[in-house]
Amino acid sequence: MLDVNVVMNAWDAPVTVLPDIGPARASGLAQLGVATVQELLLHFPRCYEDRRYIHSIGEVALGQEVTVQGEVLWSRNVRLRGRMSMAVVGVSDGSGELSLTFFGRGFLANTVFRKGVRGIFTGVVESYKGLALKNPEYEVLEEDAQEGLHTGRVVPIYRLTEKISQRMLRRWIQGALTWLEAQQEGTERPHVLLRAETKLKSYEVLLRAVHFPSDLEEAAAARDWFAYEELLGVQLGVLQERALERVGEGGYAHETGGACVRALAAGLPFTLTSAQQRAVTDILQDMASPYPMMRLLQGDVGCGKTVVALHAMAAAVDGGYQTALMAPTEILAEQHAVQMEALLKPLGVEVALLTGAMRAADRVREAIASGTVQVVVGTHTLIQEKTLFHRLGLVVVDEQHRFGVVQRETLQRKGHRPDVLHMSATPIPRTLAITVYGGMDITVIDALPPGRLPVKTRRVPQEKVADLYDYLRCQVEAGFQAYIVCPLIDESERRDDLTPVLQHFDALSTGPLAGVRTGLLHGRLDSREKEEVMTAFKEGEIDILFSTTVIEVGVDVPRATTMVIEDAAQFGLTQLHQLRGRVGRGAAQAYCFLLGEAKTKEGVRRLEVLCTCTTGFDIAEEDLKLRGPGEFYGVRQAGLSDLRVADLIRDARLLDKARREAQHILRADPELIHEQHAPLAHIARRFQRTPP
Ligand code: ADP
Ligand code: MG
Repeated sequence: MLDVNVVMNAWDAPVTVLPDIGPARASGLAQLGVATVQELLLHFPRCYEDRRYIHSIGEVALGQEVTVQGEVLWSRNVRLRGRMSMAVVGVSDGSGELSLTFFGRGFLANTVFRKGVRGIFTGVVESYKGLALKNPEYEVLEEDAQEGLHTGRVVPIYRLTEKISQRMLRRWIQGALTWLEAQQEGTERPHVLLRAETKLKSYEVLLRAVHFPSDLEEAAAARDWFAYEELLGVQLGVLQERALERVGEGGYAHETGGACVRALAAGLPFTLTSAQQRAVTDILQDMASPYPMMRLLQGDVGCGKTVVALHAMAAAVDGGYQTALMAPTEILAEQHAVQMEALLKPLGVEVALLTGAMRAADRVREAIASGTVQVVVGTHTLIQEKTLFHRLGLVVVDEQHRFGVVQRETLQRKGHRPDVLHMSATPIPRTLAITVYGGMDITVIDALPPGRLPVKTRRVPQEKVADLYDYLRCQVEAGFQAYIVCPLIDESERRDDLTPVLQHFDALSTGPLAGVRTGLLHGRLDSREKEEVMTAFKEGEIDILFSTTVIEVGVDVPRATTMVIEDAAQFGLTQLHQLRGRVGRGAAQAYCFLLGEAKTKEGVRRLEVLCTCTTGFDIAEEDLKLRGPGEFYGVRQAGLSDLRVADLIRDARLLDKARREAQHILRADPELIHEQHAPLAHIARRFQRTPP
């Protein structure tokens, strides 16, 4: 047995210090992510059962779930087939008699339930030679009984694993609390972060209230307290880096009302939506401040993020600084370069494209290094060592989630604390965003430019598929284009229930869509071939593009009005929404058709959500509910799984409060060095991380 006194902090002691827990049980607990006393105590109930009301046995009825209290009149160990046994126990409370059956546990008859023993029992009333409770939860009442653990009260129900039962967990957690209270030395409370409303309660009291509450309200209040503490820790962790940065040396304070910014605004071929206007205001404010901007601009595909970024670039130009815009693919970089050139060239701004495929790359690099180019648009080539900037003042990263942290930071380091704007068309629910990207400020563009019609989404049953192909032919004749997306490349992937794009392309091109100019795009083409196909589609040389999910996000093909998704239930919600976003970028009404049957309940739900929700944020909220934060965009790596108590869906309100409190605290003490903030520094450290 471990000597507790040598353990610095009893909370962090391994569970094996507890009386009932040896190595075998500890390894069972490890499967629940529980290794220390504190982790055991933070293994919170997933729900509770209220077993306070004691029914009188004489009144119970078949099918009812009841809790009864009574005395054992008799008990028998009944042998069953094989080596199985069953305990049958008769109990009475004076109002009537009831049997209890314990299947597979015949030994209980002559150990626990001897005649005269008193107990509380919870179960559903069934019939077995009269009325009986089958495998009831039980609690033996001792003479000097404290309150019960397993029944006769509000009972905690835990997440379990093999070999660990509810009874064991309740006993061990109860034991851990008692053990802790007995430790006088070395029981430095983990964080004595007691806010006003809980000031009078100790950490242990709150833990008892979570595990063994006297009523559900008490449990909920205590749980919220822990969730809040955890969320505060997360927010302090993610915000502290930013706060510390502000203590250090500043970035650029750009002039944001300069000639180029004004000329850009005056020369736009359209009016900004009010959401875009807000985003521009946020960004220019960041740029004017002496601290480096670190902002995430989120908005659905087509909402017009590029033109917002252009305002930031114009501000950089006005101060004589360069901008680097990094996009994940050549086709996107080219598209951006064309768009920027059109709007910035007339203002006398030099725009250059730098991609790996370019022959003139070295000449462009020279121009960047000498400063004759002010806006550089490129792919990963921008972060190559040989790409050097003259005076990099602004970094814009498009589709930021397609880049790793290191790549983004490498680009940033090409300048001296430049302002940074990240853009993403993958909406993340706010609760998740301020946790994962907590260190960034976030602006959301939540409206599409006027005149843009939301894509109408329909499910197409098998018997209507022929009509769909007729419709596609009509659309093509009218000059529109379409995508047909399949989940697989070819049959070799051995999923005969799914449609492979190669075979589908052959079958339709020679069958129902014969004569239509079709093209084929999938992940086995090299990037050159992919770009060629995509360019041909963009230029209108292909009418219907068959593809796997590799079609670029953000590629603008205004005449593409129809998106057909084969085996739609195969795809995740966010992915379906992204696919749908490839159409509807022009003025004509666009449609998205979902084919195939959903085989799971969740699949059905996904397709329903897609048909009814049109904005990325609604979709993302639903996706978060369906999949949980862990599965969401690989945020697991980001350490979100560190959240033991808090729930990003349920605790959105607490999260807001925690964020405000964290900001408040860090404003006064960015390094968390004041004595009263020591426990905060401790919990913040637990959650410090860099965004993914
Ligand atoms: P995304 O947010 O997906 O990057 P883009 O910036 O590519 O979107 O914009 C999509 C299209 O919408 C572009 O052709 C752009 O010129 C156009 N656009 C952007 N803002 C507006 C607006 N306020 N009014 C009309 N069209 C706009
Ligand atoms: Mg874009």
